[in-house]
Formats: sequence, C-alpha cells, structure tokens
Amino acid sequence: MTERIVIAFGGNAILRAKQKGTAEEQQANVHTACLAVAELVSDGHQVIVTHGNGPQVGAVLLQNEISKDQVPAMPLDVCGAATQGQIGYMIQQSLTNILLTKGIMKLVVSLVTQVLVDASDSAFQNPTKPIGSFYKTEEAEAFTREKGWVMKEDKARGGWRRVVPSPDPISIVERTAIKSLLDSGAIVIAAGGGGIPVVQCEGEFRGVEAVIDKDLAGQRLAIDVQADTLMILTDVAQAALHFNAPEQINLGAISLKEAQLYYSEGHFKAGSMGPKILAAIRFIEDGGKRSIITSLEMAGEALRGQAGTIIKS
Ligand code: ADP
Ligand code: MG
Repeated sequence: MTERIVIAFGGNAILRAKQKGTAEEQQANVHTACLAVAELVSDGHQVIVTHGNGPQVGAVLLQNEISKDQVPAMPLDVCGAATQGQIGYMIQQSLTNILLTKGIMKLVVSLVTQVLVDASDSAFQNPTKPIGSFYKTEEAEAFTREKGWVMKEDKARGGWRRVVPSPDPISIVERTAIKSLLDSGAIVIAAGGGGIPVVQCEGEFRGVEAVIDKDLAGQRLAIDVQADTLMILTDVAQAALHFNAPEQINLGAISLKEAQLYYSEGHFKAGSMGPKILAAIRFIEDGGKRSIITSLEMAGEALRGQAGTIIKS
C-alpha cells in the first residue's frame, strides 16, 4: 500500500556535531538522507520533506555579525528564509539526481514557507530557544543593552547565548500551494527550520524574532496535506523511557494513550525528544493514521512496522 508521508529530518542529519559545516560536508550528509527518501519514493510513496536548520541558521547569524560593519545584518526571519533556500536547494538537487539514477523523473521543489503563530502566545513572554554563538559575559550584557536580546548562560558549555521565543505553530500560510504541488506529483520540501514565524497584524503578515520547533511545524504540515504518516527521523532509532538511565526502556509500537501518559510523566526532554513525541501525539489526535520516530537508517524498516517508535490510535 502506498502512502503520503511527511518526513522530518533533524538539523543533525544535514550537519553533524563535529563537522565544520562546509558545503561539501552538508551536501554529502544531504545525499545520505536523500537516499532514504528516494527509497520510499521508489516504493511508490508520496513524500513531503521538512528539515531542521539549527546549525545552518547559527552560521548565517555569525556571518551577519562578523560582517555587520560592511553589510547590514538581517533579522532572524530573513535568516530563516535564507536557510530554507540553502538547505532546500541541496535536498532538491540531491534527491532529483538520486531519483534520476533510478529512472524516476519527478519534480522536487522547495518552497519558502511562512508559519502563522499567535502574537499573544505565552512563549513571547518566556524565550527559551538558544540560537547562534556563545558569548562572554560582557558581550552578552552589551547585546541586552544595545539590542534588547534576552541572553541565557549555558554553564556546561561555558558561555552566554541569545534565547528567542519558540511559539506554537498554528497553520502553514502556503498550505494550498503545497497541496497543489503534491497533487501534481511533485515532491515538496516545505516548512524548513520549522517555517518562518509570522504573526498577522491588522490583516498583514509580519515576520517575528522567534523560532518554531520543526517537528511541531511538520505535524501541522502533515495534517494540512492529509498525510497518512508523520515520520520524524533523528539520531536515535527509538524514543525511550528513563532515557540514558540504567533502566532505559526503548519504545516500539505504542498506543496514543500510552504516548500521552509517558509524555505527561516527563520522559522526553524539552527541546529534543519532547516536541517529537508531542508532534507524534498531535498528529494522531488530529486524525493522522500513524506517527513514527526513528533514525535515518531505520526509516524503511520502521515504515514496514519493524523498527522505530510507532504511535497509532
Ligand atoms: P533533531 O536534530 O533530529 O531534532 P534532537 O537532538 O533535537 O534531534 O533530538 C534527538 C535527541 O533527543 C536524541 O539524540 C536524544 O539524545 C534526545 N532524547 C531526549 N530524551 C529522549 C528520550 N526519552 N528517548 C530518546 N532520545 C531522547
Ligand atoms: Mg531537534
């Protein structure tokens, strides 16, 4: 049976922790990720790809900062759009090339995507998402004074980082265009980096200095395109209870009720596995058939029900 599947890649799938982040490194990682996607396409599935952008937007912010005396720095929403373009381009070219070697002619399109958030979302009063570089105490103080940035100390990694709000995604602004592209047979890459957060203000859309979690945005995307499966690909094969403790239990197939219970018990870390499980739960609550959380390597097996953490009603 063929399905419509939204695949969400972690930023790590495109830029590994210890890498420098050269274009060649990222292209090689994207190639590996696209091999997994191509396999699903050649099995007849219709796929929509979304992706993280943490390391890439960090690099763009740093470039902005270093060159700010010569070229005006861009705000966070514009930097988000830039990374959707750069990562989207790499995926669309790589996936097209892999499909061609399999004799599959498909249009692969990435779409700069805005995601609506609520200006009164409580996240705006409590910024939590660290972005960009690490700074010394004096530098952090200067950013707060001069730009009004909220800075938080990360003692473990020895520095201060800017934190921005991470509001809940409400809807994908370009959803009808994404749907038409899919219906025409194209493979669409959308809502990269969680989408560009926008608010509606007297009828107009306006970008905001915030970051949307890419798994939560991917879930909204999956409902909008009426996907059968939401597949979140990360660097662990399964979500676990008592993660990293001696009594760790990896989760296989679980019910929505079980997922809700474990989520409420706090087994999944905020900012990493937490939003993945929440996205998986919401997808089923909103009428999706199946949510899968697994690694890139296990994608095919998980789709056949033989690997990963699988949540159904
Ligand atoms: P991505 O870039 O794919 O979004 P994240 O780093 O945000 O990846 O999330 C994946 C990470 O979540 C895993 O590498 C793991 O360290 C962490 N994690 C936190 N809690 C859990 C849990 N309960 N089970 C499995 N992994 C967990
Ligand atoms: Mg993540």
